[in-house]
Amino acid sequence: MPYQFDALCARFFDCDVQRNVSMAQYTSFRTGGCARALVEPQSVEALQNALFVVHEYGIPYEVIGNGTNLLVSDAGIDAVVFRIGEAMGAIRQENGLFFAEAGASFAALAKRTVECGFMGLEWAAGIPGSVGGAIAMNAGAYGGEVAETVQRLTYVDAASGALVDEAPAEGTFGYRFSAYRAPERIAVSAAFSLMPDDGGAKARMAEYTAKRREKQPLAYPSAGSTFKRPAGNFAGALIEQAGLKGVRVGGAEVSSLHAGFIINTGGATSTDVYNLIRRVQRVVHAQSGIWLEPEVRLLGSFSNLDEQ
Ligand SMILES: Cc1cc2nc3c(=O)[nH]c(=O)nc-3n(C[C@H](O)[C@H](O)[C@H](O)COP(=O)(O)OP(=O)(O)OC[C@H]3O[C@@H](n4cnc5c(N)ncnc54)[C@H](O)[C@@H]3O)c2cc1C
Repeated sequence: MPYQFDALCARFFDCDVQRNVSMAQYTSFRTGGCARALVEPQSVEALQNALFVVHEYGIPYEVIGNGTNLLVSDAGIDAVVFRIGEAMGAIRQENGLFFAEAGASFAALAKRTVECGFMGLEWAAGIPGSVGGAIAMNAGAYGGEVAETVQRLTYVDAASGALVDEAPAEGTFGYRFSAYRAPERIAVSAAFSLMPDDGGAKARMAEYTAKRREKQPLAYPSAGSTFKRPAGNFAGALIEQAGLKGVRVGGAEVSSLHAGFIINTGGATSTDVYNLIRRVQRVVHAQSGIWLEPEVRLLGSFSNLDEQ
């Protein structure tokens, strides 16, 4: 990197800067190499300041939440990783709205809303990401998705450093798509508008949690569903029909319990996971004509693996 890294790190004033951090400890796949530096901003102002510094010096950066939808290259990330974590994770209720900072646990928010007598986020129990990650991915399950409940949100426009507060406009959310996604926009908080509980919210949340325990390979590290749902079909069904359940590359395996999940059975590398993703894509395409798109976000370089 053509700059004085240490001197620049010192300019992330209010931030705790860790050097050469293994991303395996910050991702639910438990794989991947090191980030050049990992910074956990303690406040919105600290994040804005740090973004100002990286832009001023042209330092590459990435933003992560809880790392539950990420596959980080084994070669690591030659960039500063900003992790929006617990320090920016407050949740409060006011006038029928729930305000959550981006670093809050999305599942904890969902649980809190139900405990307080509201419905609309029951489906989010068991999604292990942060509120910011849920907004960035427009996370969803069991017929619900983030877009339906976000009334307003606040983000940092990374290029200008400005804090923008707005109601999401038409087209800002789609299926596992959001306009509020790093690196351009970094969600820092959102207001969720929910309906009073119809009396069934607790039971629905318990039912969804039980379904996850029964149908998902939760005992193994993974990033949830590896692929997006193709139009009119299900990734898991296509993978199963292609005979890929239980297929392995190194320590990565197509789960026998739920073919939509690739799991780390122990000792998998990100290269194993990536190569298995590619294999699944090729085989499913050959059998069904459908090319599965990963839902999992790739961080760092994987392009060298495609040449093998
Ligand atoms: C067991 C399991 C079950 C899962 N079930 C579901 C499910 O039912 N439905 C579902 O949708 N997902 C599911 N997931 C995937 C994952 O939990 C969600 O996508 C989650 O919303 C990701 O949040 P995160 O904080 O971990 O984001 P990360 O994985 O850290 O980041 C994901 C993306 O969001 C961006 N990002 C993160 N924070 C911000 C921010 N503050 N501002 C802007 N961009 C940001 C990152 O740059 C990256 O592109 C599951 C994962 C696991 C491991």
